[in-house]
Amino acid sequence: MSIIDEVKQRTDIVEVISQYTTLKKAGRTFRALCPFHSEKHPSFFVYPEQQSWHCFGACNTGGDAFSFVMKKQGIDFGEALRLLAQRAGVTIPSRSEQDAGKDEKERLYQVNEAAAQYFYDLLLSSPAGEKARSYLTSRGLLPKTISDFQLGFSLNSWEALKQYLMERGYTEGELLTAGLVIEAEAGRTHDRFRNRLMFPIKDIRGRTTGFGARVLDDSLPKYLNSPQTPLFDKSSSLYGINLAKAAIRQQNMVVIVEGYTDTITAHQNGFNNVVASMGTSVTEKQVSAVKRLTRNMALALDADAAGEEAMLRCVGYENTLDAEVKVIILPSGRDPDDVIKQDAKIWQNLVEEALPVIDYTFNTVTSALDLTTAKGKSLAVDKLLPIIAEIKDTVRQAHYLQKLARLVRVSERSIEAALRKIKPDRKAREPKQKAIAHALHPLLSRPIEERCLAWLLQYPELKDSCQGLLPEYFENIENREIFTAWQQANDLLSLKRGLDTAIWEHLDSLITRSLPPTSQTERGYVFTDCILRLREEFLRSLEAKKEAQLALEAESGGTAAELAKQKEQGIEVSIQLGEVFTQKSQRRSGAKEVRNEPRQH
Ligand SMILES: [Zn+2]
Repeated sequence: MSIIDEVKQRTDIVEVISQYTTLKKAGRTFRALCPFHSEKHPSFFVYPEQQSWHCFGACNTGGDAFSFVMKKQGIDFGEALRLLAQRAGVTIPSRSEQDAGKDEKERLYQVNEAAAQYFYDLLLSSPAGEKARSYLTSRGLLPKTISDFQLGFSLNSWEALKQYLMERGYTEGELLTAGLVIEAEAGRTHDRFRNRLMFPIKDIRGRTTGFGARVLDDSLPKYLNSPQTPLFDKSSSLYGINLAKAAIRQQNMVVIVEGYTDTITAHQNGFNNVVASMGTSVTEKQVSAVKRLTRNMALALDADAAGEEAMLRCVGYENTLDAEVKVIILPSGRDPDDVIKQDAKIWQNLVEEALPVIDYTFNTVTSALDLTTAKGKSLAVDKLLPIIAEIKDTVRQAHYLQKLARLVRVSERSIEAALRKIKPDRKAREPKQKAIAHALHPLLSRPIEERCLAWLLQYPELKDSCQGLLPEYFENIENREIFTAWQQANDLLSLKRGLDTAIWEHLDSLITRSLPPTSQTERGYVFTDCILRLREEFLRSLEAKKEAQLALEAESGGTAAELAKQKEQGIEVSIQLGEVFTQKSQRRSGAKEVRNEPRQH
C-alpha cells in the first residue's frame, strides 16, 4: 500500500474538518457553515460514507480530506500529506530513504535468487543430492516439474550456503536479513536450511521471496520456512502463484490447497490453477492477493478439518472477495497429492462437485441432527445462524435465512428476529478503522480516472481533446494532482518535477500501464468516452448529494427563497447530466461510422 493510501485509510474526514468548523450531524451527513466563505445558512456538507465534502454555496466545490486541508491552510499537496500523515501517525520516509529501501530489497531478491539456483544445482548434480533425487523420483516428479518449481537441495553443512554467497559478494548482514542464515550464540551465524529438500517461494512476478524446506528423514521439524523478512510474509504468500496466475485468469477460478507437494502434483497433472496456502488455514491477506486474478475460489479441506470454525473463516473470505467460496472436501486423512496420484479423475470430480461453503455447512450440520424434534431444530438454528449472521451480502444472507426457515419449519420472521439478536454484537466488534477503509474504497482506486489519465499521459496529442475535462471530475486526490499538474506541464519530465515525490510511484504506474493498441481516430474516440463517463459519474454523485441536501432543507425548514435557490442548482445539475446522455447517444450512432473507417497504422 502506498503511503498516501495508508494516510487515507487512517484519516477520518469528519475528525479532520471538525478541527476547523463545528459540524452538526444531519441524517447520514454532517453540515456546517462553510469555512471558506461567509454565510448565515449552512451549505457546507461532509459525507462520512464517501469521505468527502461539498459546499453548495458560493464555493460550489468539494473534495476529500487532502483537498480540504490544502484549501483551508493554503498549502500544496505534499504539505497536506505530511500534515495528515503526522495526525494519523504514519511516518513518511524521505526520498533517499525510499531509494535506499528499494536498493536493499533489490539486493535481497538477488541473494534469494542466487540461493535458489545454488540449491537447484545441488539437487541436480551433487553426489549428496542423490537421496533427494531418488525421493523425488519415487514421488513421480518429472524433471520438467522440478525445473518449473526450481526445487533444490541444501547440504548437511553449517556454512556451505553462507560461504558460497559471501564469495559472491553478499554480506553476512544481507544473508541474515534474507533469513538464509541464523544468528547463533556469540554473534556467529550459520545456514538456516541444512540437509533438506528446498521449495523456493516466489511472488506473482516470479521473484524468490523465501523458502520452504522439508526433511528427507524423520528429523524434526518436518517443514521449515523462511522467517518474516522485508520480502517474505508467509501470511500473504501463495505457493505456485507465479506458475498458476495465467490459468487462474483463464479459468476464472483458483483452487487453494495446503501443501507444496499438493500444488506441484496438481500442476504436473494439468491442474494449473492450484496454489498452496503453505500452512494451516488460508489468511485474509492471501484471499486479497488472489482477488486481483479472480473472485471464484475453492478451498480443498480435509473432511476432519471442515468444522464450523473453519466455515466461519470461509464466510470471512467470502466477505473479502465479495463472492461465494466453494469447498472441496477431501476423503478423511487424504491430501490432494494422494488423491491426484491415485486417479486424476477423482480430483477433477471433487473440484467439479465443490459446494458453496454455506450449503456444505447446512449439509454437515443437519445430517447429524433429527430435525423432526424440537431439540434438533433448535440445535440446527444455534449452529447455522451465527454463520449466516457473518454473511455481509444481504441478498445471500436472505437466501440462507429462507433456507434455514424452511428446513426447521419455523416462520422466516422468527428466524430473522433471532438473527437481529446476534447482529448488533457483531457490528460492535467491527473496528471503526475498517468502516473508514470500506468507505474509502472509491478514493483509493478509481479505474475510470486512472484509465483516462493513462491515455492522456501516453498520448500527448489528446491534450487538444480535453477542454471539457475538469480537475473536480477526479475524486482520487493523486489523480486530481496529476491532472492539474499536467494541464500546466509541457512534457512528462516537467510534469514529474511539478508533483510531490509521494505521487511519483502512482504517476509511473500510469505512464507504464498497458493500453490496447488503437489507431489515432479510435484513440480520440475512446478518450472522449472516458471524459464523458467521468463527467457523468461526477454529476451523478453531485446530484445524489444535492438531493440529500434538499431533503434535509425541507425537513429543517429553510426559508422559501433558499429552498428555491437550491432547487434551481439541483435542476442545473440534472440539465448537465441530460446533456451527457444526449452526447453519449449521438456518439453511439457516430461510432458505427468510425468503425467502418479504414484503420491507420
Ligand atoms: Zn463555501
